[in-house]
Amino acid sequence: MLYSKYRSPCCGRAQELVISRDGGFVTQNCIGCGRPRYVGIGELPVIECDICGLAMQAGTRNRNYHYECPCCDNGFPLWTRLSRWSERFAECGIAVPSELG
Ligand SMILES: [Zn+2]
Ligand SMILES: [Zn+2]
Repeated sequence: MLYSKYRSPCCGRAQELVISRDGGFVTQNCIGCGRPRYVGIGELPVIECDICGLAMQAGTRNRNYHYECPCCDNGFPLWTRLSRWSERFAECGIAVPSELG
């Protein structure tokens, strides 16, 4: 599980990074109320390289966030380390009219 660097403005809670859409689009969802927000690159957490332990550098590749180690060849798209949104949150906090019956 990975979290944004910043707490949510709605609840003051941590915000978990999740896969929001197919194709690897990532959002940060408030763990208090589930509200999703867009994640800026400056909000991404520091991840240590599994191989050499250095802080990896976050960037983008094919319009998805991508981590690369500055020291070795280790690298991966961020979304491969995340859960799907629907596995983590029961609702998004924004009612969709068609779901209200
Ligand atoms: Zn919230
Ligand atoms: Zn490394």
